[in-house]
Amino acid sequence: MTYVVTETCIRCKYMDCVEVCPVDCFYVGENMLVISPEECIDCGVCEPECPVEAIVPDSDDKAADWLEQNRTFSTQWPNITRKGEAPADADEWKDKPGKAALFSANPGTP
Ligand code: SF4
Ligand code: SF4
Repeated sequence: MTYVVTETCIRCKYMDCVEVCPVDCFYVGENMLVISPEECIDCGVCEPECPVEAIVPDSDDKAADWLEQNRTFSTQWPNITRKGEAPADADEWKDKPGKAALFSANPGTP
């Protein structure tokens, strides 16, 4: 099992999650983060840290569409272990539904 970052993270990217992960398995894209399912030890510590509830266990229905994205892009994007600055308009985006279409495959900057 692993935890999965879902579309709610897109354009929010608050990054509270990365500071608590004991195995540093978050990876950063241009507008969201993902978790490496190969490295996640399933501790669950990050889940309550996310202010927008973007992180779910892979047993959750919401994880289905995002597990492969987490798996693929965690091998392509840079690792992130320290909280950076959230986008200036993050609060405007945090409750918007249907953000999947805005997903960017470009790597981000840790
Ligand atoms: S805390 Fe939540 S919204 Fe912020 S980067 Fe982590 S998963 Fe994304
Ligand atoms: S469940 Fe634990 S190991 Fe997995 S990403 Fe979250 S904090 Fe890291």
